[in-house]
Amino acid sequence: MDIEKKVLQTIENYHLLDKKDKIVVALSGGKDSVSVLYILHKLGYNVSALMIDLRLGEWSKKHKENMIGFCNKLGVKLNIIDLRKELGWGMCSIKQALKEKKNLSGCTVCGIIKKWILNKYAKKLKFDKIATGHNLDDECQTVLMNFLKGNVLLGVGSKPATGIKQKNNKTFVQRIKPLFFIPESEIRKYSKKMKFPVIYEKCPCAFGTYRIETREWMDFLTDKEKLKIVESWQALIPKLEKENQTQANICEICGEPARGKICNACKIFSELKG
Ligand code: AMP
Ligand code: ZN
Repeated sequence: MDIEKKVLQTIENYHLLDKKDKIVVALSGGKDSVSVLYILHKLGYNVSALMIDLRLGEWSKKHKENMIGFCNKLGVKLNIIDLRKELGWGMCSIKQALKEKKNLSGCTVCGIIKKWILNKYAKKLKFDKIATGHNLDDECQTVLMNFLKGNVLLGVGSKPATGIKQKNNKTFVQRIKPLFFIPESEIRKYSKKMKFPVIYEKCPCAFGTYRIETREWMDFLTDKEKLKIVESWQALIPKLEKENQTQANICEICGEPARGKICNACKIFSELKG
């Protein structure tokens, strides 16, 4: 089955989208999120894009240039958030400043900040759903990493659609992952065949996460095996959810979603100030 059909199947099986939804695709400029934007647009959904300019020198400049051209050609509105204007720092400086902090280092920091900005702007711009480019390999890494770190229950929220579905929820914009069951290898092939203007090199500022190590040894698994791992985990989630209802809180500082009293992004911001 081709990717476009598989995406439609995931959308239908998991009720990810409605034709009335105002969707924003979190657009990094990589093959995954570009494919999501292209396919959702082709399927007739109401999509716009939001890109965070991480200010990683030439790498970010090229991504931005590519995505301005791509969205223009597609006829999709592109919103760009400049990280330096938003926080006063570029991503590499933030990561350098927090290099020694346990649990707040490397790519983890980048992920937390991106999620925070995406949710904040999706609310501000009144979108119903955020679509990301997370693929089968990302999900398989998440499952295995949670096991290897002894944090298995963290994976209870890893589903094709996360968060609360209610349209009037003021805190959390639901995130959906249309590529959840599609291996990275297939997306790469599709993106090359479609000649999408994307950069295939890794982020120049990627360091220090267990995810990178996991990704390396996961190369030994076939796509079929990765799918088995992710599907087996998905089958377990409903049973685990019954016993592990976690309360979603609101951060006391910024009002964004948080696990405890203060969200992870605000913890990062306070480290940067100190
Ligand atoms: P990553 O955290 O780089 O693995 O990216 C996971 C997903 O987050 C991507 O597929 C995009 O949907 C989204 N994303 C990553 N980087 C950006 C960015 N700079 N701006 C907007 N969305 C992003
Ligand atoms: Zn906060």
